[in-house]
Amino acid sequence: LSSVDSRRGIATAHLRYSDGMERSGHRRENLTVEEAVRRILLGCQVLPERAASLREARGLVLARDIVAQSPSPRFDTAAMDGYAVQHADVRGASPEQPVHLGVVGSISAGEGTPTAVAPGTANRVMTGAVCPEDADVVIPLELVEFRDDQIVVSQPFPAGTNIRRTGEDIAVGTVVVERGTMLGPAHLAAIAAEGHETIEVFPRPRVAVIATGDELVRPGHALEPGQIWDSNSVMVAALIEQFGGEVVMSGSVPDEPKTVLAVLRREAADGADLIVTIGGASLGDRDVLTELATDAVALECWSIAMKPGKPLVYGQIDGAMVIGLPGNPAAAFVSAIQFLRPAIVTLLGRLDIDPPTIVASATEAIANPGGRRNYLRVTLDLDASGHSARLAGPQNVANLATLSRAEGLLIIPAGIERVEPGARCDVQIIRSL
Ligand code: AMP
Ligand code: MG
Repeated sequence: LSSVDSRRGIATAHLRYSDGMERSGHRRENLTVEEAVRRILLGCQVLPERAASLREARGLVLARDIVAQSPSPRFDTAAMDGYAVQHADVRGASPEQPVHLGVVGSISAGEGTPTAVAPGTANRVMTGAVCPEDADVVIPLELVEFRDDQIVVSQPFPAGTNIRRTGEDIAVGTVVVERGTMLGPAHLAAIAAEGHETIEVFPRPRVAVIATGDELVRPGHALEPGQIWDSNSVMVAALIEQFGGEVVMSGSVPDEPKTVLAVLRREAADGADLIVTIGGASLGDRDVLTELATDAVALECWSIAMKPGKPLVYGQIDGAMVIGLPGNPAAAFVSAIQFLRPAIVTLLGRLDIDPPTIVASATEAIANPGGRRNYLRVTLDLDASGHSARLAGPQNVANLATLSRAEGLLIIPAGIERVEPGARCDVQIIRSL
């Protein structure tokens, strides 16, 4: 993959390894977010389709058009509780000249075909019942008087009132839900209304999550001095599930290249489509992914023109794609949205690669020293003048309190050093329904 592109912007860094030696020749390529996404997407192929029940299909992508085999509604249907009558009988009804119609039968939803409505009569019908033949109006219960087995109609109704005609919603042969649609509740209903129980979808990609760091301990276990709980694994796993991936948790691995490589190989052998590592992607003494990338392993170190989340590792191990996120929580989060999400939604067969984004006005001045593209954690408000965004707290890359308050990521484009109050900015939405 790397050979596809020009090698502009390759920087050489000097790394001091844990063995104390300093080696050069390590390459860290400077990329924009767009270029990094483009390269990641080159390595993403939609997985072979499979059958799924409707109950497991929410959030999956339909692999084949669903074409209506039967009309909806399936029969002329009463749309309200009331009386089915012939339009000719009630066309001239008024308070001065009320029309009296004898009620000759009644039909509820689920009952078989009723007898036709004869002139001068009415049939009581419930919502969802088959509308009697020859009826062309259903008068709502509350708009007639009922006395002595008769209804008294004192107003006219247009023909067709409260009758849903066969096929008026979905005609036979029309595409009910298109291939490529990510299935939400309403799509599932439209497919179920056609009588399908199983459909063809693209499967969820299997995504392995590996946290790296000598300091990491699984939450729920005791800490020694200098250790911290691994909070990124669960966060990244939850994000992956929100993007539509199926997570395989590897837990945390010490900062030893051999061990990390062995885990990467094991996850690839176990069928991961994508392996996500967290941490060890920058230029520290024990940044294990960076160390691995210099060996005979198909991993590259990228330096992305963004903040937070500058370092990113990308490559392939034994047929699985590898994306290495930075370890600081906000950096891991922001990078996951920019790089993991496009990969996972593409593997899933979705076409909407870009994260959902709105425009909001900044409520305060925000400085962007350095001029990289900046993703700021903000809360959002909505009033008559539209959305406004407010910083959710200090924007330190390690700050989880700000991250957990945030509802969006406000983007300051590269090269813009300051945003003034009222400026209209793109904001990626990070909550979901
Ligand atoms: P790294 O990218 O490995 O240099 O880590 C950067 C910072 O993020 C360090 O303070 C790490 O301790 C922290 N960090 C890395 N991985 C995790 C994790 N899985 N959970 C919580 N903090 C982490
Ligand atoms: Mg680390």
